[in-house]
Amino acid sequence: MGSGMISRLEQLCIDKGLKMTEQRRVIARVLSDAADHPDVEQVYRRSIEIDPHISIATVYRTVRLFEEANILARHDFGDGRARYEEMPTDHHDHLIDIQSGRVIEFRNEDIEKLQRFVATELGYKLVGHRLELFAVPIDQSERRNS
Ligand SMILES: [Zn+2]
Repeated sequence: MGSGMISRLEQLCIDKGLKMTEQRRVIARVLSDAADHPDVEQVYRRSIEIDPHISIATVYRTVRLFEEANILARHDFGDGRARYEEMPTDHHDHLIDIQSGRVIEFRNEDIEKLQRFVATELGYKLVGHRLELFAVPIDQSERRNS
């Protein structure tokens, strides 16, 4: 993305009426460009490649601001670090490869349906859920067993 272009996240910030400083714009662009659910440390490292004057404290503050404005989704993928992604327009769940840390997004209609069913059975209307699958690649665990 060219530096003059507005990232989707930055547009969301503007729509929400957030005051956009140059540093916030950089952090918004880094988060918008990320496809890997980075933690604050990773967002910081990518941000200082664009603007070396950005501090980790600014990244922490900005990420929290975006999160409170509901334009950033926070996840806990079991390693104790908060991970972030642009608030998705369509719902998806995550599979976490616990060996490589790779995060794969998926959506499964049977799971979606089953969760609604469970809630209904318990007398509730489902309004949201979080699902994380922790997994290892199949070919590697087979290799270990043989
Ligand atoms: Zn995701």
